[in-house]
Amino acid sequence: MTVTDLVSYEDALASYDPVMGLEVHVELGTKTKMFCGCSTELGAQPNAQTCPTCLGLPGSLPVVNATGVESAVKIGLALHCEIAEWCRFARKNYFYPDMPKNFQTSQYDEPIAFDGYLDVQLEDGEVFRVEIERAHMEEDTGKSTHVGGATGRIHGASHSLLDYNRAGIPLIEIVTKPITGAGERAPEVAKAYVAELRELIRALGVSEARMEMGQMRCDVNLSLMPKGSERFGTRSETKNVNSLRSVERAARFEIQRHAAVLSSGGSIVQETRHFHEDDGSTTSGRVKEEAEDYRYFPEPDLVPVAPPRAWVEELRATLPELPRLRRNRLREEWGVPALEMQAILNAGAVDLIAATVEAGARPAAARKWWMGELARSANESGRSLDELDITPAQVARIAELVAAGELNDKLARQVIVGVLAGEGDPDTVVEKRGLKVVSDDGALGAAVDEAIAGNAAVADKIRGGKVAAVGALVGAVMKTTRGQADAARVKELILQRLGVEG
Ligand code: ADP
Ligand code: MG
Ligand code: ZN
Repeated sequence: MTVTDLVSYEDALASYDPVMGLEVHVELGTKTKMFCGCSTELGAQPNAQTCPTCLGLPGSLPVVNATGVESAVKIGLALHCEIAEWCRFARKNYFYPDMPKNFQTSQYDEPIAFDGYLDVQLEDGEVFRVEIERAHMEEDTGKSTHVGGATGRIHGASHSLLDYNRAGIPLIEIVTKPITGAGERAPEVAKAYVAELRELIRALGVSEARMEMGQMRCDVNLSLMPKGSERFGTRSETKNVNSLRSVERAARFEIQRHAAVLSSGGSIVQETRHFHEDDGSTTSGRVKEEAEDYRYFPEPDLVPVAPPRAWVEELRATLPELPRLRRNRLREEWGVPALEMQAILNAGAVDLIAATVEAGARPAAARKWWMGELARSANESGRSLDELDITPAQVARIAELVAAGELNDKLARQVIVGVLAGEGDPDTVVEKRGLKVVSDDGALGAAVDEAIAGNAAVADKIRGGKVAAVGALVGAVMKTTRGQADAARVKELILQRLGVEG
């Protein structure tokens, strides 16, 4: 089906109610893999971080990573889930070259966490509750690279390369209950849910959850039911969607595609689908296995996991403030409108601004620098704000120098450029580049005289009472002093010299 065959979004929603299910995989940031001691660090030579256990060699035995379990419990608690008193791992049996054991160690009917919820805030401030079915522990697969074809897919490739460094890295899979009642806002809810979950995972410190690096990926299940019906339709499952925007687009496309199929009398096939970033469409993947095809059975090589209640309560006590509540609190403390807070969140600047305020800057100043000059610089270099070579403490120091009148905005921007270029901390850059506001009358006097002499006509106008024209002369002084003059003092000096009251 091409994009043009779709039913319009409005028409689709006029006839059908969407039902959604979101499955999110999060790669945990543990030092070692889930069932062996291999490093999880990125960037190693292919297959350098493997051992008999994660390669599934005969006779090897797995051992559970305690930090992996702890992270799973924290995630479960933060999602208001119940934590299993006793649960097991299960083998999910299937063959694929990126999975050398021929089964994935996962959890099936005994997840470590279940029955929770996450409240997500939509752009207009409305709070929507997404119910959580379960969060379970499992392991990642290796990575295949198909060589020789045009598309990078296996079709047309001459051979494939396999890297098992990722095989066995701990994953938590978080599965929602069917999400109903979102109506036309379903795609927005999907996006807001994944965004909120990402914030939560980061706040817990269990993963950086960078979607662009595959540390967090989302499968979007979607079906439609005719308006008024309560019986769920057949779902499609769009796999491995890896940006917030794509989650929203995939849900939207599937709503339109399902509506087109259903309204022309067709029926939806239960299948997986691929999402395409370029045009926002999805195409058919494989017909979906039923759970029984995987021949799940309890993992015999691992002991059951029975988190002691006292330990679970200890972990509960360490949970940070929920990101949504923290955001609302900061928004009030900073006095910013909801829309701007959303922009700050989208820019990944909440923590940076909070840390800058903590380091002594006024909220307005902290926001101004992170969302202005620094956002622009990050954008230009294709990095995120937290990857810039400047710390919140340094931004706070620059804001302090501006507040004290030692820098103006223009000079402050140059200090930022210097810090980002690795020239040192703000005070060092000010010193090295000689970037101080000049307010010393002696130093400014010559520049003021020069500006008056060089703009005689303007000077006459001002003498004649057109005080507003003084801006042109201030501008001239700023130019000759390369932006370093104290503009307010320059204005006073010019008016004094011309014998006009300010
Ligand atoms: P699978 O392993 O087949 O992907 P899961 O139970 O792990 O199954 O996930 C299915 C997801 O789809 C869950 O989030 C569930 O709530 C959701 N879901 C189930 N039935 C439907 C449906 N008819 N329409 C939309 N979503 C559904
Ligand atoms: Mg699934
Ligand atoms: Zn290993």
